[in-house]
Amino acid sequence: MTSLSNRRQSPKLQRLLAQATRQALLKGAHWAWGIQLMLAAFMWFHVKAMHDAPLVGEGALPWQFIHVELLVLVLVLVLVLILQPLLWYWLDRWPLTRWRKAVFILALLWGCLWASAIYALLKTALPGRGVMEPAVATTLLLVGLISFYPMSQVLYGFCLPILTSLTSHVVINAVSFPWLFGAGMLILLILLESGRRMLLSWFVLAVNREYEQLLMVNQLDALAHQDPLTGLANRRYFDQEGEQTLTNGDAGSQLSLILLDVDFFKRYNDGYGHQAGDASLILIAECLTQSVREPGDLVARYGGEEFVVLLPETGLAGAEQVAKRIRSTLAERALRHEGSEVADHLTLSQGIAQWRQGETLSMLLERADDALYRVKEQGRDGYSVAP
Ligand code: GH3
Ligand code: MG
Ligand code: MG
Repeated sequence: MTSLSNRRQSPKLQRLLAQATRQALLKGAHWAWGIQLMLAAFMWFHVKAMHDAPLVGEGALPWQFIHVELLVLVLVLVLVLILQPLLWYWLDRWPLTRWRKAVFILALLWGCLWASAIYALLKTALPGRGVMEPAVATTLLLVGLISFYPMSQVLYGFCLPILTSLTSHVVINAVSFPWLFGAGMLILLILLESGRRMLLSWFVLAVNREYEQLLMVNQLDALAHQDPLTGLANRRYFDQEGEQTLTNGDAGSQLSLILLDVDFFKRYNDGYGHQAGDASLILIAECLTQSVREPGDLVARYGGEEFVVLLPETGLAGAEQVAKRIRSTLAERALRHEGSEVADHLTLSQGIAQWRQGETLSMLLERADDALYRVKEQGRDGYSVAP
């Protein structure tokens, strides 16, 4: 079993984690964008209402109050017109190294815009007006936490400017009970960091589980395509691959196929036992794999003691060479077969067919099978080419 530390080092898992982080951050940023838009609109109406009812400290700022309105307007415009298209069109397409920086800059810009707006509004706050800004700031911090927890730089790029604007207001404008403010700040920071860690641990756990499931699916997929005795591809896989090669035109102009059947195998089983029969099938599989080009050529166990070899980009002459090579490789192994009428060792009969334009896989197999039948009739231990 793979240990956790091994799995952590697995590049596949790391890639999956990076992909999931990207997806989570993009989704989070989209969501955060919508919420910020709502908040910005709310602040805009709030400022307008304050302005119309003269609850604003004119002269509390070194600039006119109208400039605060403008700042909120700029915040809305920048969020909607500039940063949003950036989010939708660029981030999705950028390579991994660039988008990390881009999301960070985006979050930092958002954070700074909010920080300036909150600071400006705090400066104009008058007693009796209510405290909207700290509430908006806290809401924003929570939005940042939920949206950006997978990457701490992004989260703090967004949150720190906002926290700094609150702190600057307290320090510069000498607000009463600063220690109370300090305690509140500390609680906010603890909330952010502990919340980030907790959410991140769930996130990593979920990605780990997805990775394990992927591994399992891959293993099951491999098993479903493999013949358990010989380890060769099974008939299902062969049919799938063969059809695909023909329909995709991967075959080029030439493609050949060899169908092979063990000679007098029933007698081999009867004489040496079923287990020896199994062992000889494993040995034949080895001989077949040795005799073809890999990758490219496909060797599969087609049935009990029948095998098939698919040879893309190979004409009849090439296929005949492969058939001869298979025959001599098996002869070299000289697996004793006393019941055979054609040799003292185990032999194969082979039917070769070359694919014709428009022919399906089963038509091709049928012609190879006819050729194989002829070899059996002519005495076995050889090959025949389908016309
Ligand atoms: P021919 O030369 O005409 O092909 O004769 P044959 O005896 O090889 O052909 P037949 O179809 O009569 O027999 C095939 C035998 O292959 C029968 C079956 O028991 C055996 N066989 C099929 N699959 C396996 C297997 O997985 N393991 C073993 N040991 N034997 C198998
Ligand atoms: Mg057979
Ligand atoms: Mg046979």
